[in-house]
Amino acid sequence: MTILLPLARSLSTAAVSPFRLAVVGSGPAGFYTSHRLLKDWPNTRIDMYDALPVPHGLVRFGVAPDHPEVKNVMTTFDKVAEDDRFRFLGNVTVGSDGIAVDELKQHYDAILFSYGASEDRRLGIPNEDLYGVESARAFVGWYNGLPRHRDLQLPLDQTDTAVVIGQGNVALDVARVLLSPLDELRKTDITEYALETLSKSRIKHVHVVGRRGPLQAAFTTKELREQMSLPGVVFKTDSEWVKSQIASVDLSKNRPLKRMMSLLEKGSPTKNGDKSWSLQFLRSPTEVIPNADGSAVEGIRYEINRLEGPFDRCKAIGTGEFETQSCGLVLRSIGYKSLPMEGVPFDERQGRVPNNFGKIMDKNDEELPGLYTAGWLKRGPTGVIVSTMSDAYETADTIVNDLKEGKPMLSPGKKEGADGLAALLKERNIRPVSYADWKKIEAAEFAIGAQLGKPREKFSRIQDMLDVLKA
Ligand code: FAD
Ligand code: NAP
Repeated sequence: MTILLPLARSLSTAAVSPFRLAVVGSGPAGFYTSHRLLKDWPNTRIDMYDALPVPHGLVRFGVAPDHPEVKNVMTTFDKVAEDDRFRFLGNVTVGSDGIAVDELKQHYDAILFSYGASEDRRLGIPNEDLYGVESARAFVGWYNGLPRHRDLQLPLDQTDTAVVIGQGNVALDVARVLLSPLDELRKTDITEYALETLSKSRIKHVHVVGRRGPLQAAFTTKELREQMSLPGVVFKTDSEWVKSQIASVDLSKNRPLKRMMSLLEKGSPTKNGDKSWSLQFLRSPTEVIPNADGSAVEGIRYEINRLEGPFDRCKAIGTGEFETQSCGLVLRSIGYKSLPMEGVPFDERQGRVPNNFGKIMDKNDEELPGLYTAGWLKRGPTGVIVSTMSDAYETADTIVNDLKEGKPMLSPGKKEGADGLAALLKERNIRPVSYADWKKIEAAEFAIGAQLGKPREKFSRIQDMLDVLKA
């Protein structure tokens, strides 16, 4: 077998038809899987589809504007896209509103689903849809120029107090943006309309509320340090209780958590200021409180919890005691959520596509030929770009192993890829945006950004993106 493999590989690169893969989603998962596959199975042709005309998923629409270094991965993605074996087709939704999975299947040997997690988890409490209660996901999308949230309305100029529910890194991102000096944000690629709205913001106090304790917080040290360093922003928490929690466990073998806890104990160097942020623990929201005419949020009610079980797995148990906090804005930051797509198995309970090292499985736990997944859709909506890269590489390795073993793919026969779908796209009036088109859109964003003294000014309406290509 080992002797035959190099021969199979060289045949595959010479005369054998290429392995044609459709990738659904152009975030880190789609790009890193493509990157590995193009390297390890040279006779590959990849067509990457994205619902938006612009690529890169949450790197563009999620990562905070004041974290430009994180967005450098886009240059790696550019290199993948420069490969002639790769094509980008932006502005093409896969699923019910664009090209159906069954239609895609006819033109490819395999499909990789890496369409991420475009929704968020809800609290399921009364009045959650009241004006002034929003998901952190929508707020993040709004300041980052995601077309879907371009017109989001928030009462930032009507209240001085915001509550963020959840204690992950997204919660700290939104708390930081709400409290950052405008002059700092101005230097970033945050959208101009967000800057303008934030310039009228009256928010001075942000409470970041968790249902468990400090040892269970989901954010990480670097992000906590940034939050503690916000100029003119005082940090508040129940220090005595936090210290007692930290003292109750032996952290000598858990250095990252130990480091984070000492940062928490130290607090912020800013001791006086008119702005503040706080970490509140042991609180589960039970109800959003409306104002007198029921038109907006006026507060939030919590049940106070106690913790039960070992610190690294403890559960929050309601005590039957309640507390109400006044606020005019509630941002729910309790995690993102993937949606099912017709034609692709989905585990509703786990909120992801069932898979074995990236190979999609059916409900009988049998492998589905030619169907693969990577990224947040594969493992759930957690993990940074580096972990998404590792899991994308794992999926690419699964694909390469299947090819080496000659496992069946979608259907036998030569496939045409996107060329086979051109007539259908035209008939449906869908105009795919190529990577060269995207680079034109990006150049226009850089040019507008340069005039404004910022890295780029993102187009936040799909028509504005497409209009660049008419010029
Ligand atoms: P995504 O990046 O979400 O990409 C999915 C792509 O699929 C999108 O382009 C979307 O448009 C497309 N798509 C969706 N539906 C369809 C469809 N039906 N048809 C076609 N295309 C579709 N990690 C870090 O390392 N550093 C950070 O600073 C950081 N900040 C973050 C901030 C926020 C607010 C969030 C939410 C995450 C952050 N992360 C950060 C994590 C990182 O963004 C993720 O690990 C990574 O983006 C997940 O990649 P993905 O490819 O699975 O999904
Ligand atoms: P997350 O890290 O999973 O945090 C979710 C938070 O919500 C947790 O504190 C969780 O508490 C809480 N929560 C969940 N359900 C709840 C409920 N019903 N009631 C109250 N609280 C609830 O998710 P995230 O913040 O959305 O981040 C997603 C991923 O992106 C993470 O891996 C994160 O590190 C990454 N990210 C990274 C960066 C960065 O590197 N700078 C920035 C943003 C995001 P429990 O623990 O009690 O469940």
